[in-house]
Amino acid sequence: MANTTKIPFLDLISPHRELKAELLSVVEKTLDTAGFIGGAMLDEFERDFARFCDAKYCVGVNSGTDALRFAFMAAGVGPGDIIVTVPHTFIATTEAISQAGAQVAFVDIHESTYTLDPEKLREYIETRCEFDSRNGKLVERASGRRIAAVVPVHLYGQTADMDPILELAERYHFAVIEDACQAHGAEYFSKRANAWKKAGSMGCAAAFSFYPGKNLGACGEAGAVATSDEAIAQRMKMIRDHGQAKKYYHDIEGYNGRLDAMQAGFLSVKLRHLAKWNEVRRDLAHRYHELFMEAKGSVVVPREAPWTKGIYHLYVVRVQDREALQAQMSAAGIGTGIHYPIPLHLQKAYQHLGHKMGDFPVTERVAAEIVSLPMFPQLTHSQQKEVAGKVLEFVTSKIGAAR
Ligand SMILES: *Cc1c(COP(=O)(O)O)cnc(C)c1O
Repeated sequence: MANTTKIPFLDLISPHRELKAELLSVVEKTLDTAGFIGGAMLDEFERDFARFCDAKYCVGVNSGTDALRFAFMAAGVGPGDIIVTVPHTFIATTEAISQAGAQVAFVDIHESTYTLDPEKLREYIETRCEFDSRNGKLVERASGRRIAAVVPVHLYGQTADMDPILELAERYHFAVIEDACQAHGAEYFSKRANAWKKAGSMGCAAAFSFYPGKNLGACGEAGAVATSDEAIAQRMKMIRDHGQAKKYYHDIEGYNGRLDAMQAGFLSVKLRHLAKWNEVRRDLAHRYHELFMEAKGSVVVPREAPWTKGIYHLYVVRVQDREALQAQMSAAGIGTGIHYPIPLHLQKAYQHLGHKMGDFPVTERVAAEIVSLPMFPQLTHSQQKEVAGKVLEFVTSKIGAAR
């Protein structure tokens, strides 16, 4: 067995080597001015990232998880409220809901996009909730709690189907907060607006993560909220900075959740390359699609819905017997991942919600079959061919064995 990785799942070394001089100049500038917190580098990044998302404001924070939590609070979600999201996401989405004092409720994903299924959201609202038109509140019947917000997760770099979700939001008066932590630059064609919309510009606020492995990654922890709502942006700024709009005048209790100036500087350097990197990821994804054509369905490739332009944070396929595939890939020195193996409703952390196997069948089916293949802008065509070749070898040998 090979124990050295020939083709890594993710290469974080090369992009930083290429940008080393520019990144080091950010460090020097920071040290020379001791501008560690706030200041021009932060302002510049916030302005440029807001522009990149077609949003009016961007408020930098210390992680994607806090971006979500602060956005919920800034949007007026309070203790006892319900926030609806999908069980097929990274746990940060639901951690942030609980940390904001709200209750998690799950709605299943769509089988071909892996994002929130608007039909299932409608069904949840129409069968489990009651809308009081006098006070404009949507309330879950069993718990009597208000549905304050819905969080579509733009998973793997593909946006959720936002039009029907936003229509429901208008009809039933809940906030839509996008989890765009995997979708920097992804686009959605809105029929309602008859225009392409950027991830982060559709809900009342959107959370981004700049964890190093994301399409736009810091050299450490970082996140941001994009919004075009001035009141939400103002509240975000207070919440991330101890509830103060002015030093030592605390209108509310907040958090220490600011984005470091140095990380903002690194992010500005990398933001200039993001559109190009995303294009390369799209090209790589389309090459993978073609390479897997000959598998005739035994490798289910990501389906890009006509209303989306994905930025392939991850390239996720579905195969039978994926643990065996992973073992074979790893023996060949090829890195793979699973995003995510255990649906959130079946995690020990959410036992108190009382869910069981079978409650969200699409999520459960998908979680059992997915494998993420190497996907990063520096992946070469020949490496990619080798990855696809190994996967095809695996599925063909399985078909042979079954005969
Ligand atoms: C990465 C991620 C987060 C959390 O971001 P951090 O910066 O790691 O806190 C939240 N949601 C999703 C879908 C993510 O992929």
